[in-house]
Amino acid sequence: MVDGKLVPVLDAQKLAQNLSGFNLIDGALVPALSGRTFPIVNPATGLEISTAAFSVVQDVDAAVEAAQRAQPDWAGTPARRRGALVMECARLLEAHVQELSRLVTLETGKALRTESRTEAAGIADMLLFYGGLGSELKGETIPHRPDMLTITLREPIGVVGAILPWNAPMYILAMKIAPALVAGNTVVVKSAEEAPLAVLRVCQILNQVLPKGVLNIVSGYGPECGAPLVAHAAVGKITFTGSVETGKIIYRTAADKLIPVTLELGGKSPMIVMPDADLDKAAAGAVAGMRFTRQGQSCSASSRMLVHSSVHDEFVAKVKALVDAMKIGDPMDEATDIGTIISRGQYDKVSSYIAAGRATADATAVECCTLPTDPGLGGGLFVRPVMFTGLTNDSRLAREEIFGPVVCVIKFSDYEEALSLANDTSYGLTASVWTRDLKTALDASQKLQAGFVQVNQNIVAQPGLSYGGVKNSGLGKEASLEAMLDHFTQKKTVIFNMQ
Ligand code: ADP
Repeated sequence: MVDGKLVPVLDAQKLAQNLSGFNLIDGALVPALSGRTFPIVNPATGLEISTAAFSVVQDVDAAVEAAQRAQPDWAGTPARRRGALVMECARLLEAHVQELSRLVTLETGKALRTESRTEAAGIADMLLFYGGLGSELKGETIPHRPDMLTITLREPIGVVGAILPWNAPMYILAMKIAPALVAGNTVVVKSAEEAPLAVLRVCQILNQVLPKGVLNIVSGYGPECGAPLVAHAAVGKITFTGSVETGKIIYRTAADKLIPVTLELGGKSPMIVMPDADLDKAAAGAVAGMRFTRQGQSCSASSRMLVHSSVHDEFVAKVKALVDAMKIGDPMDEATDIGTIISRGQYDKVSSYIAAGRATADATAVECCTLPTDPGLGGGLFVRPVMFTGLTNDSRLAREEIFGPVVCVIKFSDYEEALSLANDTSYGLTASVWTRDLKTALDASQKLQAGFVQVNQNIVAQPGLSYGGVKNSGLGKEASLEAMLDHFTQKKTVIFNMQ
């Protein structure tokens, strides 16, 4: 602390220790009421770096009660003032980019230079975007009858529960809390069990500015901590990012309570490469879209590359050359491009898909990069990125979300076939088409069944652009003005009888 403000702690190990075993409730770091914790492991070494509070229903109750107590005053704070406070939070975060990127690297194994630093810088950007939108929480005047003035008001929902995944924990935290807070809600966050530390630190930093109880965070496992948060009678909205199975469980509980949900549930996103595409750009876009630097651990990963047969081999060779030039290694090393898989369980899952691909007749595994040889990284969960060619779209690898560096490259012979392969999936989060032909681009952008479609690029979610899926990829939008208005407020109609 300097002048009562937190100072960045660049020693990630030390910071992880300082945060060990805590929730943040009502403005204070507190252990779980039971005193229980669970270990947090660095996936690059296999060593325990810290612990997290093992929260259960009583801890969730305490956090929700704090949020409930804080909500009336927060809702009564002028909207632009709330926005200004959120922007002040963003400025504080800017001073913590190095610290946060090191901490999230330590707990997730994501590469510091290519992944974590971008994520840490991105959260301030998301908060700045939403912080400027306070005055957009406008209602309408409705031409109902001349003798009656009819208006609508946008009001906060109350207490929002935000349930996080581990892959981009800070960015997804920011996407959820910023619109919720600016709209006048108070929030209880539940972190992912694999990555609770960086998000706890972000909330601690934000609590220097926000009134106590406005933003609370608890750590724990899904059934013991996430489920009671969803079920809590005072929680009026759940925003969730995670698996389809858990999303459906949450939706059922929410249905019993008749509360709204936003569900972002992953994908199996197609990338169509037409024969007239600029293949160098498409190959670079494939590397970016597949999030190879994050070991493919992204909901929007372009994990199904649908490539015209005339350019298939050349495209695969170009992507392989780009990935081969990347270095897998110690995530903290500035020279590293690709870090580790998040956990042993996820490593085993990814490995079993790779084994299934290898065992498939007619499939060829195009493996990229080399594994690190440093003995200090012997316990690390490193995987070589692999592209499978020769698989069909109905193979398990092409249908199920792997959340690892495993790509299916599938040949097509004409545009209609490409479109039909692209849409033949239970998911619908993102899609891209690579072509120089305007007609194909326009047609595909209308016919691709996905919530976020790009032509000749594959960038990640951005502040201001509605992000969210169709089909099994979920419900609702995030990251935009629409997301704040539609998903974190409720509309009230008011009629003044003037006779
Ligand atoms: P993944 O398999 O990628 O970890 P999950 O959907 O299991 O995805 O987890 C995403 C988040 O949902 C995590 O924070 C997890 O603890 C939480 N979660 C898991 N099960 C439940 C549940 N039944 N109710 C609420 N949250 C849950």
